[in-house]
Amino acid sequence: MTHVAVVGGGYAGMAAATTLAAQGIRVTVFEAAKQLGGRARLVEYRSTAIDNGLHILIGAYRETLRLITLVNPNAADAICRTPLEWRIHGEFHLAAATLPAPFHLLAGFLLADGLSIRETANLLGIPEGTVKARVARARARLKQMLQQSLGATL
Ligand SMILES: Cc1cc2nc3c(=O)[nH]c(=O)nc-3n(C[C@H](O)[C@H](O)[C@H](O)COP(=O)(O)OP(=O)(O)OC[C@H]3O[C@@H](n4cnc5c(N)ncnc54)[C@H](O)[C@@H]3O)c2cc1C
Repeated sequence: MTHVAVVGGGYAGMAAATTLAAQGIRVTVFEAAKQLGGRARLVEYRSTAIDNGLHILIGAYRETLRLITLVNPNAADAICRTPLEWRIHGEFHLAAATLPAPFHLLAGFLLADGLSIRETANLLGIPEGTVKARVARARARLKQMLQQSLGATL
């Protein structure tokens, strides 16, 4: 029987080991550290569990989510899934809408706080009038796409 050695028990190693094991292949994982997880390991500090890495797990990480569910079919119940929201010290705020992709992000960018028309124009190196015209066109297009996608009267 084939017996595969996987060196390293981080996300990559554990994904490889899980995929092989799911196919009935015998696997042994060799990990140099005291615990599995690599850079995304969980560290116990004074009875508190601290995640070292992977603070952001976005919905686009489909393979990661598939592997998590493969290891534990009930894991989805333990994951709190919310629309993406990003705040930077009260200066920038972007919140994705509860809409199907890619409309959730499109709406989020159009409604984001923190960048004025002038700042956006300066950043892009284009006149303010062009930014205003593009935002107006994008809003009209978004409305049209949402109506087609959801069949809703907006
Ligand atoms: C603080 C922090 C925050 C992060 N936040 C995010 C985030 O929000 N979103 C995101 O997507 N990513 C994030 N990352 C990145 C993410 O954690 C890593 O990309 C991912 O964990 C890398 O996995 P890996 O398996 O490729 O490598 P590693 O996690 O580096 O795993 C390699 C493993 O191999 C072991 N190893 C190496 N050599 C040997 C050997 N010779 N013998 C035995 N074992 C060996 C190591 O000990 C280690 O456990 C973050 C990382 C850090 C550090």
